[in-house]
Amino acid sequence: MLKELIDKFYLDQQRDGQQFHFYITDAGKCPRTVFFKFKNAPRAKMDARILRIFERGEYLHRNIFNILYRLRIGVTTEVSIPAQEIISGRADAIISINNENYILDIKSMNSMIFRNLTAPKQENIYQIQLYLHYFNIKKGILFYIDKDKQDIKEFIINYNSQLVQSLLKDFEELKKKIDADVVPPVLPDYPDNWQCSYCQFREICDLCGGKEISWQEFKKKIESQETKM
Ligand code: SF4
Repeated sequence: MLKELIDKFYLDQQRDGQQFHFYITDAGKCPRTVFFKFKNAPRAKMDARILRIFERGEYLHRNIFNILYRLRIGVTTEVSIPAQEIISGRADAIISINNENYILDIKSMNSMIFRNLTAPKQENIYQIQLYLHYFNIKKGILFYIDKDKQDIKEFIINYNSQLVQSLLKDFEELKKKIDADVVPPVLPDYPDNWQCSYCQFREICDLCGGKEISWQEFKKKIESQETKM
C-alpha cells in the first residue's frame, strides 16, 4: 500500500527524455546507449529501488560538501564546466589543499564492490580527466565511499592530455554517427559487459544484432516488433 505509493513517487520523477548533447558522464559509456538517448529510443523504466539508491548517493555527496566547507578547503561545489559545443557536465567540487587545486569526484558504491576496488574505475578516470581538461586543473581526486560501512578510498589522478584528446575524438566520432543516423555496434564484450546488465536499451539492442546498422532500418525492426506484441 505505502510501498506502491512511494515507488510511484520515484517513478513519476524519473527523467528519461531525449538527450541533445553529451555529458561528461557519457565518457566510457557504451556508444550505442548514448546514441539511443539522442534518438529517444524506447527504453525500460528504471526500478524505483535503483532510483532510491541514486538518491542515497546524492545525500552522501551533500554530506561531503558540508565537511569540505567546514574544513575550509572547498573552493566551490557542483560547478559546471565552461560552455562549449560538444559536451556539458558538472564537477562535484574544486578543492584546495596546501595551495594546490584539485577536482574532486565522489563515487559511492556497495561494500562488495568497494572491497574489491584496488584501482580507480576506468570510466571514472575518463570523467575526471575531462573535468581536469575543462577547468585547466592538473590534479584530481577520485573519492570512493562504501555506502554500507562508510569506509573511504581515494586515488590521485594526474592530467593526461593524450587520453583527453582520444576521449574528445571518440565523442566527435559518435556525434558524426548520430548526425548520420548510424547506430554504433554493440560493445566488444556484449552481452557480458556490466553495462549490458543494467542497460535500459537491452531489449531493443538484443533485437537488432551486434553490427553497425542504419537507424531508420533499426526503427522499422523495433516498430514491427511492437506491433507483434
Ligand atoms: S545492451 Fe550492452 S551493447 Fe547494447 S546498448 Fe546496452 S550497453 Fe550497449
